[in-house]
Amino acid sequence: MRRILMVGAGQAGLQLALGLQAKGYDVTLMANRTPAEVRAGRVTSTQLMFRTALRYERELGLNFWEGLAPRVTGLGVSVAGTVPGVPGVRRAVDWVGRLDGPAQSVDQRVKLAGWLEAFAERGGRVVVHAAAVSDLDVLVHRHDLTLVAAGKGELVSLFARDPARSPYGAPQRALALAYVHGLGPRADGAGEEVAGWNLVPGVGELWVIPALTTSGRADILFWEGVPGGPCDVFGDVRDPGEHLARVLALLERFVPWEYGRATAVELTDAGATLAGRYAPVVRDPVGRLPSGGLVLGVADAVVANDPLTAQGANSAAKCAASYLASIVERGEEPFDAAWMRTAFARYWSSARHVTRWTNTLLAPMTPHARTLLSTAADDTALADRFANGFDDPSDFEDYFYEAGEGEEKGE
Ligand SMILES: Cc1cc2nc3c(=O)[nH]c(=O)nc-3n(C[C@H](O)[C@H](O)[C@H](O)COP(=O)(O)OP(=O)(O)OC[C@H]3O[C@@H](n4cnc5c(N)ncnc54)[C@H](O)[C@@H]3O)c2cc1C
Repeated sequence: MRRILMVGAGQAGLQLALGLQAKGYDVTLMANRTPAEVRAGRVTSTQLMFRTALRYERELGLNFWEGLAPRVTGLGVSVAGTVPGVPGVRRAVDWVGRLDGPAQSVDQRVKLAGWLEAFAERGGRVVVHAAAVSDLDVLVHRHDLTLVAAGKGELVSLFARDPARSPYGAPQRALALAYVHGLGPRADGAGEEVAGWNLVPGVGELWVIPALTTSGRADILFWEGVPGGPCDVFGDVRDPGEHLARVLALLERFVPWEYGRATAVELTDAGATLAGRYAPVVRDPVGRLPSGGLVLGVADAVVANDPLTAQGANSAAKCAASYLASIVERGEEPFDAAWMRTAFARYWSSARHVTRWTNTLLAPMTPHARTLLSTAADDTALADRFANGFDDPSDFEDYFYEAGEGEEKGE
C-alpha cells in the first residue's frame, strides 16, 4: 500500500486525503487544529462553490451538508453608478444570471471539522501538529509521496514564486467580511437564493452570499476594497461589533440597495468576522527539502488568487480531483519531480483560466468588460453565460478579454 503524507487539512488537503483513503492508500494527515478548535475558531472564507467543484465532493460522498445549505440558483451582478447633478449612488446595472446547477457555501468551520472527523472515523491517521520544514525533512523519506496543502501558511517558502505567472507583487484588495443573521430578502427576489456581486468602480466590490454556518442559515457580507481607498478601513478595528458597524457603513454609502436589507443584522457568533489581504501568486509546484526530499504543492500553496471571483475553494476542489487522478494513474511508479510537474501541469491547464480572469478583474475594468456587464441586463443568454463562467472560467477566453489582456507571460 503506497504511503502518502498530506500536510494541511483545508478544502484541498482533506478532499484529496479522503479520496486517496477511499482508493486504499495509507494516508497520514497533519492538521494544525482539532475539529473542535476549527469549529470554535474564526471564519476563514466565504467559500461559495459552484457546480463542478460540488460534483467532485459529491463523487467522493462528501456532500454532507447539501440538503442543509441554501441552494444558490442565481448569480446577481450590480454595478454602482452616479448621475451628474444627482446626489448619492444608484444601481446602474442590475441583473441575475441563472446557474446551470446550484452553488452553495458551507462555512469551512463546519465542513473541514466534519471532514476531518470523517477521515479519522474511516481509519485515517491524523497528527495534530503544525508541520515545520524540519519535520517534513524527516517524514518525506518515510512516505512515497508528500503533499503540502497548507494554504497560504509559512510552508509556501518551500515553493519558489513564479514571476512569469504572478503579475502582482502586492495585495490588490483589502478583505473584510462578516457572517450575519437577519438579512432581509433581495428587492427583486422571488424566493430564490442569489449570490450578489456588487461592483463599485474604483472603490471595490461587495459580495452578499447565502451560507450555512455553525448556527444555521446565514448571509455573508464580504467587502473587497481597493487598497488605500474608502473600503480599506479595517486595519485598526478593535472588536467584532466595530467591524460589523464599518461593513454596514460602507454598504450604506456605496451599495444602498443592499444596506436596505441589512439594517437589522447581527453577527452569527464571536468568530464571524475576518479582515486581511494577500498578493495573488503562482509558485513552482515542486519543493526541495534540505535533505533533498521532494514535496508537491497543492491548491493555494502553489496557486493563490485573490478571492474577488470566489474561486479559491473551487480551485482547491479541482486541484484535489486532478491530483487524485494523477496519483492513481501513476500506479506503482515513483512520484518523482517529473511526475510532480506533469501532475501540476494537468491542474494548471484549467487553473490558468481562473488566474487570468481573476487578475484581469483586479485591474480597473476595461470598456469592453463594462459594456458586456451592461448588455447582460437585456440579454438573458449573456447573463446566464457570465454567471456560469464562475463554474468554468475557461469560457471567458472566448468573449471576455480584449486582445492580449491578462494573458500569461513567459510561455
Ligand atoms: C476572505 C476570503 C473569501 C473567500 N471566498 C471564497 C469563495 O467565495 N469561493 C471560493 O471558492 N474561494 C474563496 N476563498 C478562497 C478559499 O477559501 C481558499 O482558496 C481555499 O480554502 C484554499 O484551500 P486550501 O486547501 O488550498 O487551503 P486552506 O483552506 O487555507 O487550508 C490549509 C490548511 O492548512 C493548515 N496549515 C497551514 N500551515 C500548516 C502547517 N504548517 N501544518 C499543518 N497545517 C497547516 C491551515 O490552518 C489550513 O487548515 C476565499 C478566501 C478568503 C480569504
